[in-house]
Amino acid sequence: MVDKRDYYEILGIDKNADQKQIKKAYRKLAMKYHPDQNPDDSEAEAKFKELSEAYAVLSDDEKKQRYDQYGHAGMDGFSQEDIFRNVNFEDIFSGFGSQFGGGGFESIFDMFGFGGGRRNHHGPQKGSDIHKTISISLEEAASGVEKDITINHDVTCSVCHGSKAEPGSKIETCQVCGGTGQVKEVTNTILGQMVNVSTCRACGGEGKIITEPCKACNGKGKIKESATITIKIPPGVEDGSRILAKGEGNAGDENAPNGDLYVLVHIKPNKNFQRDGSNLYYNKQISFVQASLGAKVEVPTIDGAVDLNIPSGTQSETVFRLKGQGMPILHRETKGNLYVTVKVVVPQKLNDKQKQLLVEFANISGEEINKYEKGIFDKFKDAIHNH
Ligand SMILES: [Zn+2]
Ligand SMILES: [Zn+2]
Repeated sequence: MVDKRDYYEILGIDKNADQKQIKKAYRKLAMKYHPDQNPDDSEAEAKFKELSEAYAVLSDDEKKQRYDQYGHAGMDGFSQEDIFRNVNFEDIFSGFGSQFGGGGFESIFDMFGFGGGRRNHHGPQKGSDIHKTISISLEEAASGVEKDITINHDVTCSVCHGSKAEPGSKIETCQVCGGTGQVKEVTNTILGQMVNVSTCRACGGEGKIITEPCKACNGKGKIKESATITIKIPPGVEDGSRILAKGEGNAGDENAPNGDLYVLVHIKPNKNFQRDGSNLYYNKQISFVQASLGAKVEVPTIDGAVDLNIPSGTQSETVFRLKGQGMPILHRETKGNLYVTVKVVVPQKLNDKQKQLLVEFANISGEEINKYEKGIFDKFKDAIHNH
């Protein structure tokens, strides 16, 4: 895929822009690059498409949140149609007046090659996909977990089985289009005859006339239903992974497949560990006495605490590798490592007895102690820091 530009950059707005500012920025740029204003200008058209996509994502709270968190990767699995679903372009273009012929909305969809499809297409349509986000802990990511997700999706009406007609009622073939769902209109222009194919208005592209709509679903063929779907998250899952639950999206038209459910997995930050792939990183503070004499200390792992032997004479920033104590590797038996970085802490407060012992320690070691005094060097240092 070609590198995509940042949506905020495209709209020339700040990442903190609110919905009002997003809308204003889009409206202004859309007006400038609208195809009706720039006929036969493919560059303007490309710009207009780019702008419209940015607006479609940033004007939708859920999509914006994904984009803010994961960038373009967060939109993986969204088709163009998913991105543009529910965007109210009419709202944007209605204020433009007659110069756009009120066609702003439709021309956007036509440009992306699915709008016309949505209107003219008369075959059974696959149900739309549903996207959800779930947050889990790092511990859950390590062990794998099952999570229940509640969605509100379209299911096929159990009374009419998606036919939209009351059981036993008559379904007639549309007389206007002869059951094709499309009507052809021939117009003469200076370029010759133009054939315009459009959706049959009489049957709405269905090709059939339902004399008695199903009462249970009001002739929609589908009803909204809340459902709880159990999502299996495998051990070793990465932040930003998507889990697919096939067929759990919205019901399709009669004889068309259901959409899918995509669950984006977000792993919450952990107070102990930093993760890099299958490896975990942890910082362990020890005293200078422990570092000097050696010590057995307790460190956490993703499966519980273990003892770590710190040899005598360990320097600060020494890294210990605990093999196989990291994250599981997806679909494999092996695990990554846990790296423990030792941070030697120098005491900030000493009582007289402790001070005396340290001086004694220095004396025995033959170390000359020039006691700290704020003198000429500090003044020099302060001067440097101030510049
Ligand atoms: Zn029904
Ligand atoms: Zn018709």
